[in-house]
Amino acid sequence: MSKIVAIINAKVFDGENVIDAKNVTVKDGKILNVGGPIPEGAEIINAKGCTLMPALIDAHSHPNMETLKQNMHFGITTTFQMQGYFSEAQMLELKENTGIAESLKCFFAITAPNGHPSELLPPAVLAKQKEMMAKTGIKVNKDVSTPEEAVKVVNERVQQGADYIKIMVEDGTIFGYPGTPDVSDEVIEATCAESHRLGKMTVAHAMTIEAYERAITGGIDGLMHLFIDKPHTPEIIATIAKSGAFVCPTIIAGASIIGDSDASDFVKDPRVSSKLNQDWIDSLSKHIATYPQGKTEYLLKTVKALHDAGVDILAGADASQPAIGGMAHGASLHHELQLLVKAGLTPIEALRTATSIPARRFGLHERGRILNGARADLLLVEGDPTTNIADTLSIKRVWRQGVEFKFD
Ligand SMILES: [Zn+2]
Repeated sequence: MSKIVAIINAKVFDGENVIDAKNVTVKDGKILNVGGPIPEGAEIINAKGCTLMPALIDAHSHPNMETLKQNMHFGITTTFQMQGYFSEAQMLELKENTGIAESLKCFFAITAPNGHPSELLPPAVLAKQKEMMAKTGIKVNKDVSTPEEAVKVVNERVQQGADYIKIMVEDGTIFGYPGTPDVSDEVIEATCAESHRLGKMTVAHAMTIEAYERAITGGIDGLMHLFIDKPHTPEIIATIAKSGAFVCPTIIAGASIIGDSDASDFVKDPRVSSKLNQDWIDSLSKHIATYPQGKTEYLLKTVKALHDAGVDILAGADASQPAIGGMAHGASLHHELQLLVKAGLTPIEALRTATSIPARRFGLHERGRILNGARADLLLVEGDPTTNIADTLSIKRVWRQGVEFKFD
């Protein structure tokens, strides 16, 4: 008989709200019962003084196998890869290894030839990437000039196992490389149409109002990052809301690009620094700082306006390499939740952006909620993040598919 674990006396946030039930039982990787009787012989975990919630989902990440483990230390059991690569063996491990976060993936995003992010990469890194790809047989074709090429690459990605398609709508301005080749309107439209035909969502990297408008006109399902070139207008908020697209604002990434992120304060929290190696601690003390004319205050106001207009907000950290300052895997999702509260969301509204909302928008109907039969991806924290968002960092226990993570 498989073991039943009963977590009792907890405050329970079910992914949408705080519920009356105090007890949750888990069996065979799933939630057996919320609030029901404790079965005889169950292993009891007394969670008095703690809050039980769905494990967190990071909707914008660039993970590798190592950083997927780092995510587990921070209570994140699912990430959405927004540019990167996993081999077939790694994809299998993502599904089976409960000691790392699982990642959905888009692999490499569609971009214009020599388009974003190649303007940011030193030629040596680009050359090495190409060499590695040629050696391993990774599909490198991501450079798209025409709608026909877009259709071809979308099909390649889907065959490769992509869960959704990403496209870069970026002319390089905010990264200090104006004139970087960008995709055409026809390519955006063809990418969205072909993805939809194949039953996949399309998300866009977009960081200016113009890029936002172009992506929405092309039929995009979700927008990654916020426009940082201008304050919001009622018109752009209405356009986004009417389109039905979600927004994953990655406020921390925008603030790092502007150069006034408070990540260097955030990392002083021992609940953060004790779980990071020196490279990641150093990363949080740096900024990207290519667009000092932007204002983080505008980002916060834009998020609040989007939220008030009913746009689904998804929390994403945009962590990739330690060399890119301002973000660290795992830690920065908690930072983003704090910034969402600073923007004016309630703590409960912020928690939804990393649980039920990303699960719903990406069709992960067994995750992001505490419900009978849902996947037992759970996070137990001391205190009450539904009233004090920083309590998400007071992590006691993490489970992926009912298997408790062993902190090392
Ligand atoms: Zn990113």
